[in-house]
Amino acid sequence: MKNKGILKGYVEKEIARGRALKRNIGEYISKERYESVFCQSDTRPLPVKNLDKAMEGLAETFRIYNSSAVNRNYSENGRSNDVRQKRSHTGYSAVRKAKGKNVIPVWYQQDKENGRTYLSFASIGRYAYENTMYDLVGYRRPCTSRKYLCKACALFGMASDDSSLGSRIRITDATLQGDAKTAFMDDVVLQELAGPKISYLPFYTGSGQTTKMLTYDQNAQIRGRKFYWHSEFKGADPGAERPARTQRNATMQLVKAGETFLFQVYYDRITDTELKELIWTLTLGENTADSRRCHKIGHGKPLGLGSAKIVIDRQQERLAENGYRLEDVPVEPADDVFASFRIKNAVLKLVSMDTTKGRDVCYPIVMSSSAGGSRSNSNEDAGHRWFGANYKPGNKPARYSLPDAAQKDLTLPAYVTKSR
Ligand SMILES: [Zn+2]
Repeated sequence: MKNKGILKGYVEKEIARGRALKRNIGEYISKERYESVFCQSDTRPLPVKNLDKAMEGLAETFRIYNSSAVNRNYSENGRSNDVRQKRSHTGYSAVRKAKGKNVIPVWYQQDKENGRTYLSFASIGRYAYENTMYDLVGYRRPCTSRKYLCKACALFGMASDDSSLGSRIRITDATLQGDAKTAFMDDVVLQELAGPKISYLPFYTGSGQTTKMLTYDQNAQIRGRKFYWHSEFKGADPGAERPARTQRNATMQLVKAGETFLFQVYYDRITDTELKELIWTLTLGENTADSRRCHKIGHGKPLGLGSAKIVIDRQQERLAENGYRLEDVPVEPADDVFASFRIKNAVLKLVSMDTTKGRDVCYPIVMSSSAGGSRSNSNEDAGHRWFGANYKPGNKPARYSLPDAAQKDLTLPAYVTKSR
């Protein structure tokens, strides 16, 4: 076993009065403590102080891998419903088959610092952690008190169990300005989208470098907020003529590039600073239609959809002096709304169409050295190999984590496979 720290073992049910307790796999997580964890090479049970939690985590992993909404390769019979997909995942059918047999093979790791044990069905598999996402987001947690509000909640309002605050901003629906008959493309089946794979710690934890990081329970912090790079739309499913409908793909009516929508933003009881920040946030500091600083809005962002430029064409203020009237005021997209140059620099890079211009925005790639350095086509497999080569949970830090947005080089090197 190469990955020091992750070991093979099994969970065995208690043998009572010489007779094995009959349990179904579906109910093997029970409030009664009847499971023990054994190392493969030892007959004494391991001391596991968080057994209930560990077994709950294992049950959650089982549920996730048996959900086609999460596990894109899931197929009950081991055969993929999608002819284009070579491999499928049976949702750990061996575990299902162990029904009634009282022993579940597992991989486990024990954290010396916090004394917890983690169970999984695969060595580089999903481990369930006791820290929840809420624990991990740190200061990025949603505001819960009117006394301590971030700028966004102060302006857009918030609601928690204890207190709430109304919004001082109202945004109307955006209406299409062009001809609805010509503004849309034919329906497009989008490539599959799935949720983030947060179990890949080097990409999701703070300063991802994480020397010996094994779990989210070791002082981990989520790195930051998610942004999407601008990219060319290439997200149409190539097999779209006969789409395999899953819970992860979608048929969409897409608006053609270059169409215009109009909407209003109403503000009330706003300070000068807040107004300045609101204008910057809408225009990203450039109030012109040809600006390269764009937002990403709506569905399909990782597929290249949703790049939109917001331009303020008119700003009016209602004045109560001499009766009641509307007055045009000049739009002033001030540039001094950032607390630090580093943050400003990072945000500008994230929103600029130029950052990724001419580049392929994709998952890390695998190159085959045998085919003259060509990119491997079986990308489904290839992606896994990159991630596996980059980081094996254990005693070594990951080779690469996602670059900081403010960093000059935003690329990750390809993984070159040896010729076969
Ligand atoms: Zn807030």
